[in-house]
Amino acid sequence: MNDLKAEIGKRRIFGIISHPDAGKTTLTEKLLLFGGAIQKAGTVKRNKAEKTATSDFMEIEKQRGISVATSVMGFSYKGCQINILDTPGHKDFAEDTYRTLTAVDSVILVIDCVKGVEEQTRKLMHVCRMRHIPVMVFINKMDREGKDPFDLLEEIEKELNISTRPLSWPIGIGSTFAGVYHLYKKQLKLFSGNYKKQIAHDYIQLEDISSKELENQVGENAAQKLREEAELVEGVYEPFDLALYRSGYLAPVFFGSAINNFGIEELLDTFIEIAPSPQPRETDKRIVNPEEDKFSGFIFKIHANLDPNHRDRIAFCRICSGKFERNKFYQHIRLGKKLKFSSPTSFMADAKSLVEEAWPGDVIGLYDAGNFKIGDTLTEGEQMRYMGIPSFSPEIFKELENTDPMKTKQLEKGISQLVDEGVAQLFVQNLGSRKFVGTVGELQFEVIKFRLLHEYGASCNFRAISFTKASWISSEKTEQLERLKRSQANRIAYDKEDRPVYLSNSKWDIESTMREYPDIVFHETSEY
Ligand code: GDP
Repeated sequence: MNDLKAEIGKRRIFGIISHPDAGKTTLTEKLLLFGGAIQKAGTVKRNKAEKTATSDFMEIEKQRGISVATSVMGFSYKGCQINILDTPGHKDFAEDTYRTLTAVDSVILVIDCVKGVEEQTRKLMHVCRMRHIPVMVFINKMDREGKDPFDLLEEIEKELNISTRPLSWPIGIGSTFAGVYHLYKKQLKLFSGNYKKQIAHDYIQLEDISSKELENQVGENAAQKLREEAELVEGVYEPFDLALYRSGYLAPVFFGSAINNFGIEELLDTFIEIAPSPQPRETDKRIVNPEEDKFSGFIFKIHANLDPNHRDRIAFCRICSGKFERNKFYQHIRLGKKLKFSSPTSFMADAKSLVEEAWPGDVIGLYDAGNFKIGDTLTEGEQMRYMGIPSFSPEIFKELENTDPMKTKQLEKGISQLVDEGVAQLFVQNLGSRKFVGTVGELQFEVIKFRLLHEYGASCNFRAISFTKASWISSEKTEQLERLKRSQANRIAYDKEDRPVYLSNSKWDIESTMREYPDIVFHETSEY
């Protein structure tokens, strides 16, 4: 099994997260350039849907459908096999991002130094903290007149509830930005402000920043300021603690400018040194170690093939343990059947290619004609399911109305498959079979309507309803649960796994029900 151990040790799988426009795409691209996975900038498709018109969105989706590889980008760097999982920054696709975060071992968070912590940053970090995902922070756009670095660090600590430890320090900011000083390696990197020029390898090693050389390089004032600030940093912050980072409590921070290729190499070098290789994962039965010789993995994302002539989809499987082999039978736990895959693909940044074998920490694409749902587990036979892919309450609810009774079957099939893909959540009521579709953004309703029509030939309407929250309910006292289900039947619906949820339309509303039913627990997520 030495092979397995060595392969695992080389792998790093992480997600890049940010509020839109902080520079996630730019940073991803620069990382790939450093990794030699792409040759020129502009290759990475912008995974964006800022324009809310459906047609624009569908265009983007189509492009993504063709180059689906952009959601997972693999490259090698200094002997490591790195997988970046891209996450949509747009808030309407937050669910997709949350699920992607279940498949990573760490995260790089990009923050715009002008804007600081933004709305999506807060939400995404909340999920990271819940899951104790190790986080590295890259403060981007240092070539712009941004906030003071100390203020930024304080803002991150306060707003994101995580300790920070700068590992690099900027010299000036905006028009005075002169470079970064690597606090550990004691290396100074100077910024030329000319981003056509690759200056990344052009650094100056300073044994001691009190040396006169610093003045020669950055001038009297900047030199003085850097010395003071570096001293302050070392005085204020504890030395970097790897264990605290690994357990998700401490975020090392880097400063730079992605578009100018600046600060990326420090980030990447430190990343491969400190970021965790594939970690053990929890199933409903036991914790699975990546070094176990039997293969296991789970599906965290499903990508529809938008060509209406090909109904197949690509299921993204994160390998958690053992070696995966092409054409070998594996157990699909939920369906209780054996499946084999003749053309699994790997995702290198610029090409999809067939894989014969894959290892823990790899993501493979499996062609699927409808067998998979998000969260499905594959094993060599052991009955267990990977945990940690909860559904969160949607924020917008609408009732699904069938507008073409002749196409009822198509509608049922279409909506069920879109729910399997994770495009939206569906809650069905027993009485009268009302169907509520829940999403985190208006955009998804447009997407669902469009896809139902174009891929399934079904047409529907969405009727506004007043619910704003779904809480999964459970209780040791079944009789209390039954009483709630009876007395507020119009509020109770069932999710795709047939778990009961309570639908409410205000905080006040749910709180009064909670008081009335003290033995019922109202859960924030589907996994409790
Ligand atoms: P994303 O939405 O987080 O993926 O952000 P993008 O990578 O698309 O970047 C948003 C905008 O910021 C683009 O116009 C980039 O060119 C710009 N940008 C990215 N990095 C930098 C940087 O370091 N400095 C400056 N001034 N602009 C940047």
